[in-house]
Amino acid sequence: MRGVVMHAPGDVRVEERPDATIVEPTDAVIRVTASCICGSDLWGYRGPAPLAEPRPMGHEYVGVVEQVGDEVRDITVGDYVVGSFVASDNTCEICRAGYQSRCVHHVMMGTVGTQAELARIPHADGTLVPTPGVPDADLVPSLLAASDVLGTGWFAAVAAEAGPGRTIAVVGDGAVGLSAVLAARQLGAERIVLFSRHPERAALGRKFGATDVVEERGDAGAARVKELTGGYGAHGVVEAVGTDEAMSQAIRSARPGGHVGFVGLSHDVHLDGLELFYSTVHLHGGPAPVRRFLPELVRLIWDRTIDPGQVFDLTLPLEQAADGYRAMDERRATKVLLTP
Ligand SMILES: [Zn+2]
Repeated sequence: MRGVVMHAPGDVRVEERPDATIVEPTDAVIRVTASCICGSDLWGYRGPAPLAEPRPMGHEYVGVVEQVGDEVRDITVGDYVVGSFVASDNTCEICRAGYQSRCVHHVMMGTVGTQAELARIPHADGTLVPTPGVPDADLVPSLLAASDVLGTGWFAAVAAEAGPGRTIAVVGDGAVGLSAVLAARQLGAERIVLFSRHPERAALGRKFGATDVVEERGDAGAARVKELTGGYGAHGVVEAVGTDEAMSQAIRSARPGGHVGFVGLSHDVHLDGLELFYSTVHLHGGPAPVRRFLPELVRLIWDRTIDPGQVFDLTLPLEQAADGYRAMDERRATKVLLTP
């Protein structure tokens, strides 16, 4: 099968990989109908650390089930499916509490590499959610978004306690931040403040439900949120970047008693203990348990209540994946969809 392999920072190739096959009896193999490039794929792409060995890429996917292992009960060949970027059994105590991304048997789909023609899906019954049928072509980007960015933004908005009467601020105007805006709106937030200096992303943010766009960053950005909220700060803040500045900005934008949902993959974040102590905020985050939300997200997409697929602004054939990485690295694209 053809698949994307990263050989070194800046060196992504599409090449022959061994066909995905059933390894464990709980596995399924899907034919990937769409995958995409994630902001987190760029951390490795931008280096500087050399890779120990070439690695397959991709953890987002929708597709059609081609094979199932002997112990798979709920998923059948021919199902059109969406799954999270983390495979999970959905039966252990952590899963049942709604934290499937930290399942005791979790498998990061990035180790499988879904930017390929075929993908092995571990714990198929726990991981995959079938759609009601074969989706119309225009629904595919939205279903694919549910696999990671929408599910992650949704978790962040839930962790920030978005709801009626609440003001939610969102740090990060990438695909996850924009999805968090959409989620906060859907969850009933009254006011949604998006931090953005990027006119096109801000425009999509407004389309998704942002009521205010703030260009200031860091302490100036937090001060602006305080100004907009009568001096209090936001009830909830989504952090969807993962840098030290973004995390501080998120905590400082929240009011005492407020909630920060942090989902940006953390890089060199150092929190000051005394500041954290006096902030009096709730911190809740980590790799999003997308599987918790998937059935509802699939329904909202299927009913055309939400259209998160608008975060994709470039579509390329899998064979041109390297161009997609370049476009995202150079910020010419927010989110790149790869078709077979
Ligand atoms: Zn589990």
